[in-house]
Amino acid sequence: MRSSPVAILHWPEPAAHPPVFPVFLPFSGCPVRCVFCAQDVQTGCAPRGVDDALAEAGRLLHERAGRMRPAPELAFYGGTFTALPSGAFAACLGFARTARQEGRISGLRCSTRPDSLPPDRLEALREVGCGCVELGVQSFADSALRESRRGYDGRTAREACVVLRAAGLRPGVQLMPGMPGSSPEQFLEDVRLALELGAVCLRFYPCLVLEGTELAALWRAGRYQPWTLEAVLDALAEGFGLAQRAGVPVIRMGLAPEAGLSGSVLSGPHHPALGARVQARCLVRQVANALAQARAEGRLGATEPVGLVLPRRLQGMYRGHAGELVPHWAGLGITREHVRFHDERREIRLVRLAGASLDGAATPHEGF
Ligand code: SF4
Repeated sequence: MRSSPVAILHWPEPAAHPPVFPVFLPFSGCPVRCVFCAQDVQTGCAPRGVDDALAEAGRLLHERAGRMRPAPELAFYGGTFTALPSGAFAACLGFARTARQEGRISGLRCSTRPDSLPPDRLEALREVGCGCVELGVQSFADSALRESRRGYDGRTAREACVVLRAAGLRPGVQLMPGMPGSSPEQFLEDVRLALELGAVCLRFYPCLVLEGTELAALWRAGRYQPWTLEAVLDALAEGFGLAQRAGVPVIRMGLAPEAGLSGSVLSGPHHPALGARVQARCLVRQVANALAQARAEGRLGATEPVGLVLPRRLQGMYRGHAGELVPHWAGLGITREHVRFHDERREIRLVRLAGASLDGAATPHEGF
């Protein structure tokens, strides 16, 4: 007897994207040193001149092309790109234009602050083929921006998204849950706002206390307490779900594991597998919500057992990091013997077990 699903969910596949070739320009163009920022540690790259950075990039792109690797998207990261001195800005765009004409890059993106968007620079970016401009928004909340002394308010951050779109550029939004003055509720509000404002991608960088920052001094003085890892996992799982439902990719969660980063983290929710843990937690929540809805609508009895059929590519997400999610699944009544995997890429099925076996829930060749 074949069991009909009581709910079907979809888990999107990551969008195909050309590889990104980052050129880090730590602190270049930054009008202030933000309290939490240690770009040199975060990017694994010491502050350097634009000429040196471009010379190295040119050499590496040439080597890459020689190895017949696909042309990457060039990305200027690590500072306030649109506030670079004019000569440095022109040199970067000239480099990108030439590299694009020669087929060594497929496109260009950059990161900058929401309060540094001069129209002539946006026009120059668009003209050279820049697609996405990632805004280091961090939060749209005035209180968090003020406490972190970002130097702009929420209105400026919101308008930045609008200005970019009007200039023919696509806004990406970087958010920093846990920054001074923030809360999990505010972070989720920030995610909603970023999606409403047309963000084409998001990054979540939970606030860490890094050696050498002003935040480290505040933390040592007992005036800043980072969020716990549990709080961050929960907030990001919710935020990731919002973005997923809106069809907007979250392209990074947590800082990249650069050499030297771990030794510089004094405190805070740092974990090398943060993104994977967040996604796995989001999956449990989505299934829990679907179960609750099915029961509320009478499609499933209050105590009726259910089975779960997952795409095989999500197999690692069932247990979660070090098996941390097994108790969560058990709390939903879904233990390992109630889980099967199939070769469909996106579809997640919740199936009724009473009167039917889970075996009928997947294609026969999957060996149930
Ligand atoms: S957070 Fe951004 S604007 Fe602030 S110092 Fe770092 S790179 Fe510069």
